[in-house]
Amino acid sequence: MPDPVENLLRGPKAYDLAREAMGAMEKQRVWPTPLNYEIYLHCVEDPDGPLAQEIARLAAVGEPLTETIAEELAASYLPKARLNEQIRDAGDQLSKELEAVAKAITTAQKSSSNYGQTLADVSKELSTSDMPPALQTLVETLSSATRKVQRENLTLEKQLKESTSEVDRLREHLEQVRRDATTDALTNLANRKAFDDELERACAESVASGQPLTLAVIDIDHFKNFNDTWGHQTGDQVIRYVASVIGRMAPPPRFAARYGGEEFGLIFPGESAAMVRKTLEEIREEVCSRTLRRRSTNEELGAVSVSAGYAERRPRESPHSLMERADQALYDSKRSGRNRVSAAPRADSEAA
Ligand code: GH3
Ligand code: MG
Ligand code: MG
Repeated sequence: MPDPVENLLRGPKAYDLAREAMGAMEKQRVWPTPLNYEIYLHCVEDPDGPLAQEIARLAAVGEPLTETIAEELAASYLPKARLNEQIRDAGDQLSKELEAVAKAITTAQKSSSNYGQTLADVSKELSTSDMPPALQTLVETLSSATRKVQRENLTLEKQLKESTSEVDRLREHLEQVRRDATTDALTNLANRKAFDDELERACAESVASGQPLTLAVIDIDHFKNFNDTWGHQTGDQVIRYVASVIGRMAPPPRFAARYGGEEFGLIFPGESAAMVRKTLEEIREEVCSRTLRRRSTNEELGAVSVSAGYAERRPRESPHSLMERADQALYDSKRSGRNRVSAAPRADSEAA
């Protein structure tokens, strides 16, 4: 569904709309952050819509529009450009339509062939009796018209089959493009974009199911030193090595991604903080247990270690805040000496 605000912002009413949104934010003492601005633009555009009603409800009970609430509202109400999914759905839809048309043509082909047979039978019977020539001509005309329709239907059927397989091919190609766009080329793990999408999805699922959700971040220790000593290419091999350990030791339904340069994200759907600690410790031990060698020369490079931080999602917590707490826990691991795994405090009161 196209977003009406997108069009309005490029039309004659653009600045009126913007002023109105800013005015409403100022009146309700809401910070004009980009996200709040987007929310208010949608409220002004559709003042009776569900988002505007929700904002009005918050204002009425005096609840401030915090970043967390704004993110939740955005996730629920703002239109998202999920283009890939839309294209894929369109491909599926088209295949279905083509299938239906193919069925209709086959049915038409069958009934016209039945009709042709009936005509042939009738004309045979008629020719044995005394049939007026005008009637005979009529039956022949009908027979030949029927044969023509049958031939045309056959051609149509063939063309349709070709179109259907072309659509299937395009859909597969699209699927490949989508995979490429969500995969990190160096490690073959998911990339940051895919990770962000998955985290959002997993949070929503955890809300719906009531199951726990834990997020971990893992970062290679002193990696700059390693790069400076052994070079970038060897550094890349180490990133691949760590990625392979993570992928192997945290198989699906866990979701592993290369979040940045030498940093990884891991989503544990359905697992509490206590449950993931063991997996993270195993990953940490496995990584530092190997003496790495340079591929080309077999030179010993020593071992690398990783630090990890993890946090279990709190009720109503946004993906952004969950990520921040896992990052904070990673920072704790770094600060307390690296090559270790740290949990984020379970509740605000437990914060150090
Ligand atoms: P810390 O233990 O605190 O994490 O120290 P660090 O040196 O690992 O952290 P820092 O963030 O200071 O440096 C990260 C380094 O990782 C910087 C850069 O040299 C290296 N790096 C980032 N991305 C890549 C990459 O794609 N390939 C390689 N070879 N190195 C990378
Ligand atoms: Mg590092
Ligand atoms: Mg880092």
